[in-house]
Amino acid sequence: MSIMHSDVVGRKYWSDDGTLLVHVQQSVYKLKPDCLDQLSSRFASFPRTPDSQHGLPSVIIPTELEITSDDFETLLDYVYHGIPLDSQTSFAQAVTVLKTSSTTKLDFPSINALARQRLLDIFPKQLDDLVQYPDAPDEALSLAVQYDLHPIQKALYYRVATHLHLEDDDAPDENDTPPSETTIARLSPDLLKKCKDLLDDLIGHFTPILFTVATAGHMVCTDVFAEAWMPLVIQPALENNGLCKPIETLQTIIDLDWKVQGLCEECVKDKREEWKGEQQVVWNKMDGWLGLGNGTQ
Ligand SMILES: [Zn+2]
Repeated sequence: MSIMHSDVVGRKYWSDDGTLLVHVQQSVYKLKPDCLDQLSSRFASFPRTPDSQHGLPSVIIPTELEITSDDFETLLDYVYHGIPLDSQTSFAQAVTVLKTSSTTKLDFPSINALARQRLLDIFPKQLDDLVQYPDAPDEALSLAVQYDLHPIQKALYYRVATHLHLEDDDAPDENDTPPSETTIARLSPDLLKKCKDLLDDLIGHFTPILFTVATAGHMVCTDVFAEAWMPLVIQPALENNGLCKPIETLQTIIDLDWKVQGLCEECVKDKREEWKGEQQVVWNKMDGWLGLGNGTQ
């Protein structure tokens, strides 16, 4: 490969005492190579050819790696400036670093590990964390599966299955955004099917729970449920797509002011424990429905 004359000098990374030119797509960078070579044996193994224009050895990042100059500069930010991959690192930045540093691309294992950890920190891992709703859960799910980010897969499957309206034939719910073309496009056919199957499992499990009027330890308290279950539980759930979101719907039931409805304090406490247990049952059953192994909580 010859060096193109149209190469753009990489604005951020043109070091006066650099001793290596690195070409990424149409950009060229002048760098001190020690750090790069130490962190990546793959990078160190790229052939270095003399560059007549600058009199320095030169590396061309193979185009088939599909690394853009922006990707490369983002990686260099972490290599040279020691920017921490922490809570200030956005999802998009962490994804760029994860991909660019992965074994299928430039293979910077230590930086890849930091990017993985950052992504694991962004997304919920347990039932109690589900309130941190991530943006772009479909994109995150695809990534979590592709890069084996196991601890965050379950919550992302749940989020995608229950909130992105993957059903083909259901009428759109006006309270929620309809599935966009990009959502469907971002999920592989396998993942899309897995999410749809999960939704079927969730609905199949939750339907009898939702439609069975709760009972309590006292007859008078059971009578309260008999009066209130349809207007306060079933009706709102049907209006809000609640059958498709068992964990959230159970939370709504837990949060209802049952004392005001006439339930005694003891029964309120007992039933709340029971419904929390039902949330946990759903969460645990998902392992089996999704075929997830241990290590996913
Ligand atoms: Zn009672």
